[in-house]
Amino acid sequence: MTFKLAAAIVLPTLLLSACTAAEDNSADLAIPQVEAPEISVDTMKDITRELSTDAFEGRAPGTAGEEKTLALLTQRFEAAGLEPGNGDSWFQDVPLISIEAQNVSPLTVTGGSGDLSFSYGPEMVVTSYQEQAKIDITDSDMVFVGYGINAPERGWNDYEGIDVKGKTVVILVNDPDFGTESLEGEFGGRAMTYYGRWTYKYEEAARQGAAAALIIHDTAPAAYGWNVVESSWSGPQFYAQTANGGADQTKANGWIQKDVAAKIFASAGQDLEAQMTAAKDKGFKAVDLGVKSSVSFENTMSKMDSKNVVGILKGKTRPDEYVLYTAHWDHLGRCKPAPDGDDICNGAVDNATGTAALVALAEAYTKAGAPDRSIVFLAVTAEESGLLGSKYYAENPIYPLGQTVGGVNMDAFSMSGPANNVVVVGKGKSQLDMFLDAALESDGRVAEAEPTPEKGYYYRSDHFSFAKHGVPMIYFEGGEDLIEGGREAGEANSKDYTENRYHGPKDEYDPNWNWDGVMGDLKTYYTVGRMLAMTEDWPNWNDGDEFRAIRDKSRSGS
Ligand SMILES: [Zn+2]
Repeated sequence: MTFKLAAAIVLPTLLLSACTAAEDNSADLAIPQVEAPEISVDTMKDITRELSTDAFEGRAPGTAGEEKTLALLTQRFEAAGLEPGNGDSWFQDVPLISIEAQNVSPLTVTGGSGDLSFSYGPEMVVTSYQEQAKIDITDSDMVFVGYGINAPERGWNDYEGIDVKGKTVVILVNDPDFGTESLEGEFGGRAMTYYGRWTYKYEEAARQGAAAALIIHDTAPAAYGWNVVESSWSGPQFYAQTANGGADQTKANGWIQKDVAAKIFASAGQDLEAQMTAAKDKGFKAVDLGVKSSVSFENTMSKMDSKNVVGILKGKTRPDEYVLYTAHWDHLGRCKPAPDGDDICNGAVDNATGTAALVALAEAYTKAGAPDRSIVFLAVTAEESGLLGSKYYAENPIYPLGQTVGGVNMDAFSMSGPANNVVVVGKGKSQLDMFLDAALESDGRVAEAEPTPEKGYYYRSDHFSFAKHGVPMIYFEGGEDLIEGGREAGEANSKDYTENRYHGPKDEYDPNWNWDGVMGDLKTYYTVGRMLAMTEDWPNWNDGDEFRAIRDKSRSGS
């Protein structure tokens, strides 16, 4: 799970109509019967243990730990019988850049009833996605664009009829359904859609040509306090390098405190609360605030290279159609020390387990013989810095995304023991749910929806990088309804992991782990992927899902 994104927004998907659509379409899908071979628990144990030894230093990109990880993975992929997945190479180079804003001026607002000035840190934060030594926003017209959403499939466009080129857009966090109890509404009610995430809001502002985008922080819909915004948005920010150096991005992206926004609106003769209410309506029109903002800062930049590891098992009859397995190999490296002085975040569960699973699955697939479609095993880098390795692959695909049938992401196996259920993050989004149900059926297990869809976990691990480009991806985790101890024991185990190990130095290999649950989940991962590799169908996003239109376009172009 990603660090910064885990601290990030929370919001609302659209499930009800989607479920109906799935049922309507199910008759058209052929889901083949699949027999799973024995999957090696020794491979799981050995690789999880080795990747999480202190010698790997927590596997931070660009460190000696990366070199060791790449060497181990390529050796094991090759031994498993895979071929290098990028021509003759096992690697895809992922050029990364860190950009840190320094000497940030106050944000000033002029032209209203009084001149205003807000300090960097306590009142506002700002950063840049552009590789520019100096950023200057000077007397830029401020425009309130509500939730900053342009969603043609919902007939919703907060930018309609207004030109924001070169201007500073001010945007509400979350989406118009925030506060809804049910899963019904234009934006999926309580469940989060991508339109609620801050990443989306900055992307849309850039597409609209804005010079700067400022999100109004509000603790409830953001789901975290200003302290989290302030700490995670200061210091170096990591991005994948782009050919144009981020020239198509806004110059400045930031957040402002809610009371800062209230003062800006008041000086512009507007009432923030009234505008927040108006923004929930479909007919909302963006408001030119009639005031101008200025802010400037310097960027300190440094570049480094990291690598995705990619192996392929070529399909027997349709090798140019691909099924994807993804897991991130990276973790946090050296981190805040535990009381005993241990400062290596070993990332045994997160995500040595998922990385080991790629190897164990590769072995199982070659043992069973190549399926009809090709299987791509992709271990991605820099997930913890914001899904950067998977984003880079999805933007620079080795195998065409329109020819990629779908995929399965594995991030942090549950070590709680065998469970009656798996938890699907993003259940109801695509027809892959039907493959999962079929895979679980023979084991007498069930798929349950995640309990907190408003937290938007679907948008927080590597499957999302592919979903965003239309590839149907499924992500599920071991459930908490344990065969021994039931939900009470399962919840206690998850709580222990979250509170005592997650993203800390104590996420370490434990020789006493019971691997039975992991192996059950791994069998399910195998079965779902193998079914996808044997069917002739192309499962899609359900009707109304935010990724459906992108997929339909990429499929029709292939
Ligand atoms: Zn993580």
